Amino acid sequence: MIKFDRVSKRYPHGIDALSDLSIEIADGDLAIVSGHSGAGKSTLLKMITAMEKPTVGTVLVNGQNVGALKDAGLPYYRRNLGIVFQDQRLLFDRSAFDNVMLPLTISGFPSTEAAKRVNAALDKVGLLARAKAMPIALSGGEQQRLAIARAVVNRPKLLIADEPSAHLDARTALDIAQIFIDFHRVGVTVMVSTCDPTFLAAEASCRIALDHGRLTR
Ligand code: ADP
Repeated sequence: MIKFDRVSKRYPHGIDALSDLSIEIADGDLAIVSGHSGAGKSTLLKMITAMEKPTVGTVLVNGQNVGALKDAGLPYYRRNLGIVFQDQRLLFDRSAFDNVMLPLTISGFPSTEAAKRVNAALDKVGLLARAKAMPIALSGGEQQRLAIARAVVNRPKLLIADEPSAHLDARTALDIAQIFIDFHRVGVTVMVSTCDPTFLAAEASCRIALDHGRLTR
């Protein structure tokens, strides 16, 4: 379970990105974080991935106070998270397969089992046939799928994606939405941010709508 208890975030020299936010996301939820550009969606997700700390309040993930984690504890904490970054962070000099393999190499996974997992992750996002392709040869939607495959190859219980439908046409956005629905159906807790009020709107089991860092009423 994820719980924000009266969380505020003020960036240095900045405005309040989040103000007095209290929310709960249950295990197995498909949670949508919506709002305009600058509403605080990325900041909210970064609190969960421990990329930012609250200025005030606490963020608990499965009972763990994420803001109090020491740097040394972060890799262990993040092992249970799948993160799809807004800028994807693909390695353009490596194949699709090698991009997905990277997290397993880092965590020292045995190579035969790792290759099976990479293929399974590519298959789940419909990219198995493109395993040898370089990212530059993939379409925008395929690159997004690749970023999702890399995020799930460690089989995380919590999958977080920051605006995964940005820059995609409506048809491709629907395909990407279906991938998140599929993970939700097999019990993964999924949190997705979006500027598009229709994205996953019907399927969400938890809706967090932000306006200038506050929950909309
Ligand atoms: P969203 O994801 O909804 O577009 P963000 O969480 O990225 O919103 O940003 C919320 C507010 O915080 C914005 O006003 C943004 O300019 C500000 N902000 C985000 N990151 C930083 C940062 N690293 N330093 C200063 N201000 C930031």
